[in-house]
Amino acid sequence: RIVYVNGDYLPEEEAKVSVFDRGFLMADGVYEVTSVLGGKILDFDGHAARLSRSLGELQMDAPCSDEELLAMFRELVARNEIEDGMVYLQVTRGNPGDRDFAFPPAGTAPTIVAFTQNKPGLAENPVAKTGIKVISIPDIRWGRRDIKTVQLLYPSMGKMMAKAAGADDAWMVEDGAVTEGTSNNAYIVKDGVIITRQLSEDILHGITRAAVLKFAAEAQMKIEERPFTIEEAQGADEAFITSASAFVMPVIEIDGTAIGSGTVGPVATRLREIYLAESLATAI
Ligand code: PLP
Repeated sequence: RIVYVNGDYLPEEEAKVSVFDRGFLMADGVYEVTSVLGGKILDFDGHAARLSRSLGELQMDAPCSDEELLAMFRELVARNEIEDGMVYLQVTRGNPGDRDFAFPPAGTAPTIVAFTQNKPGLAENPVAKTGIKVISIPDIRWGRRDIKTVQLLYPSMGKMMAKAAGADDAWMVEDGAVTEGTSNNAYIVKDGVIITRQLSEDILHGITRAAVLKFAAEAQMKIEERPFTIEEAQGADEAFITSASAFVMPVIEIDGTAIGSGTVGPVATRLREIYLAESLATAI
């Protein structure tokens, strides 16, 4: 693979980041994951806007303009001959030259790393036809989940807990209500109404979430943005998740209880089709 590091495109084995990098020592960095379908980037503007917001919330300067970022993504996609896959981007507070809790002085260069992941046939993922199983786990993450930081230890542990329980992923629960999935936003459908938690500092403001809710509203589907419990989800007609890499993915079981018919439902199926068609049409 050819990867990007601080202005250079290099074979992955030649790309290097300092051991003093604050991303490595302090998880002091943010990231974005963007899908590529047919060699084109999906929802670029949304991901670029969220990156700026994440950086701003952490008092980090934007490392480059959105135009430069798009050119870099396209260069990586071209050099790695990606038809379908992902572009991963990480920006950290850089290398202050030593380990120190205090932020380095203004002007310290950020570390920018990006790489592609090749996923042929990403949009035709067969799992979308069978759905996934989730378990519930307590949400013990920090209180600024709206910032897309690289602190992914608990989500990693959540995926391991799910795997150990014979499931595919975990939905996190705080004060009795579902916040989100380990790497996705969570939804249920009851009597034709799509229910998903409202935006706040408690969850990541998913770019796919924004797009899917927009398309759902345009298709005259009813949406309620509010918290829901695991019990309400288990009694729902359908459940699903959204993320840049999974698009819309049906959930057929929560903590061992089948949702609705226990098979992939019509709302999730339709939203997946609409999301893929509409985002492909605007991919750049
Ligand atoms: N929530 C969390 C915790 C995530 O990590 C992600 C994506 O990585 C999402 C939601 C979905 O966001 P997006 O649709 O922008 O990929």
